[in-house]
Amino acid sequence: MKHSKELITNLKNIFEERFSGSPLFIFSPGRINLIGEHTDYNEGFVMPASIDKGIYIAFAKNAVNKLRAYSFDFKEYVEVSIDQLKPVNRDWANYVLGVVSEIQKIKSFSGGLDIVFGGTIPIGSGLSSSAALECGVGFAVNHLFDLGLSRIEIAKSGQLAEHNFVGVRCGIMDQFASIMGRSDQVIKLDCRSMDYSYFPSKFEDYQILLFNSKVKHSLAESSYNKRREECESVVKILQQKNTGIQSLRDVSLALLNSEKNMFSDLLYKRSSYVIEENDRVLKAGEMLKNKQYKEFGQLLFESHQGLSEKYEVSCPELDFLVANIKDNPSVIGARMMGGGFGGCTINLVERSKKESLIQEVSQTYKERFGITLEYYEVEIGEGTHIIN
Ligand code: ADP
Ligand code: MG
Repeated sequence: MKHSKELITNLKNIFEERFSGSPLFIFSPGRINLIGEHTDYNEGFVMPASIDKGIYIAFAKNAVNKLRAYSFDFKEYVEVSIDQLKPVNRDWANYVLGVVSEIQKIKSFSGGLDIVFGGTIPIGSGLSSSAALECGVGFAVNHLFDLGLSRIEIAKSGQLAEHNFVGVRCGIMDQFASIMGRSDQVIKLDCRSMDYSYFPSKFEDYQILLFNSKVKHSLAESSYNKRREECESVVKILQQKNTGIQSLRDVSLALLNSEKNMFSDLLYKRSSYVIEENDRVLKAGEMLKNKQYKEFGQLLFESHQGLSEKYEVSCPELDFLVANIKDNPSVIGARMMGGGFGGCTINLVERSKKESLIQEVSQTYKERFGITLEYYEVEIGEGTHIIN
């Protein structure tokens, strides 16, 4: 992938003005999720990939035993003693401090750390700029102090930073994708066992295009918790007869159908979505192996329909963005991506037709909602790595 020379130069200059010595550089990517939405907390499967947009970090040790961090995008600076890390009143700094603190819990090291960082990824739009930042900082600490942590240990430190310093109880997918990603490959991750495998994703004549609805409905958080509870209650009901069931992962559609009279229509809708979505992820892997891109795309449309009608976590803007292109022959798949109620849609579109498509969708979206659409072309790039 091509790195942003301009941003790297800016970070280097700022680093040299503020601190001493010459820094190393890391790139840590954001992620997309091709399919497998709301399956992670049901111990199911997801299919994320790291992208060519992310966070760049200039970093070096310091001899003053401090953690000193400068955010290029927010133009803010934080300096704390590295031996006494606790949450501060700047959101971005908590991701940085949080990861270092979590790593200190598993491996002790001595010395301070200077970082200057900035991103090429939209913040807070569902591409996981937060995981990119966490994994980048974790990778930097591991590298500088030669701690010998595995990539998965770094991902977990990022997840815990988000739990303990930021207060978001996220799953592991985002950090996993950021740090374990590979160029032109998607990851199929089993959220129960953490087993994972890679599938080729060149997509040949097609490319991934994201449309940012630019809305975030307030329902997002409460509905997320509600859905988790709904899934748990289905599991509890089924456990009365089947002691082997621990999560919806253990439930087949046949079993669910045979016990349908045990729960409400609403709970049936919710749980059948999750079970079907898990099946779609498994099928999606096979289709990628066989280069059946159109069939793969069809799964994205089905995923969206399930999220919208059965799981009910979409919104008019996302539904519009998908419905609007569904019959367009240059789009072979589309769905909402992420928790729902806003954020981006992910689309598989014919490369040669993308410009006219962007123009058309932007215009109709503006007419319907009065919102200027943003779009991002993403390539699947390598996970967190040092840049030479
Ligand atoms: P997402 O992960 O979907 O982009 P989040 O709300 O989880 O959205 O994370 C966004 C937060 O991560 C920002 O509010 C900020 O605190 C931190 N962050 C992300 N990117 C940057 C950046 N380039 N510079 C500083 N902080 C960032
Ligand atoms: Mg995030």
